Amino acid sequence: MTQLVRAIVDTRALRRNLETVRRLAPHSRVMAVVKANAYGHGLVPTALALADADGFAVARLEEGTALRRAGLRHPILLLEGVLDEAQLNEAAHQDFDLVVHTGDQIELLARYRGAYRFRVWVKLDTGMNRLGFRLEEFGEAWARITGLASVAPGPRVMTHLANADDRADPKTDRQLAAFRQAVAGLAVETSIANSAGILGWPESHGDWVRPGLLLYGIVP
Ligand SMILES: *Cc1c(COP(=O)(O)O)cnc(C)c1O
Repeated sequence: MTQLVRAIVDTRALRRNLETVRRLAPHSRVMAVVKANAYGHGLVPTALALADADGFAVARLEEGTALRRAGLRHPILLLEGVLDEAQLNEAAHQDFDLVVHTGDQIELLARYRGAYRFRVWVKLDTGMNRLGFRLEEFGEAWARITGLASVAPGPRVMTHLANADDRADPKTDRQLAAFRQAVAGLAVETSIANSAGILGWPESHGDWVRPGLLLYGIVP
């Protein structure tokens, strides 16, 4: 026999949690992270409930497509970027923002011949992550990306905090210092904080915060 498990999701709670994020990070725009089926809450219903967010972040193209099909016109950021030309063309078609974290992704953008201009979020590896340009690679990657005809003016710079849920971990301060050093002198919008950053590290808020857990009522 099959057991049916039902979860009831309170969309008012989702909206209240978004308001809490805005109170905690009053100077930042909110990119609601709805990857992994909105942490199991249902991608489309969750995003519709969070329509007051300034944008949505998903891991993959198909998730972004589902949001567009549901009628959401927000900026939608693909956290893993795209892997090939077909995906890049589709991202243009659907007007998705792209994380760029590898040289291969820069090459894909360099070969793009369409008229679309991609909004790019350059991912910096400030220490503890697997993904992103290392500090010593960043200057060259930045120069290349900002020189590409396929990239819209004003790419953003982002990083991910590895262990911000531990206020005592000195790594987060080192990551923040590395980030500041990389963007020093650049007039760019920044995005650093996940939920733990939003709660524990006000100096990490930047122009865009990226809460996942907090939106679902989980305090990291
Ligand atoms: C998953 C994810 C987040 C959200 O993290 P939480 O800890 O759930 O708030 C933010 N940024 C990136 C790049 C992510 O992959």
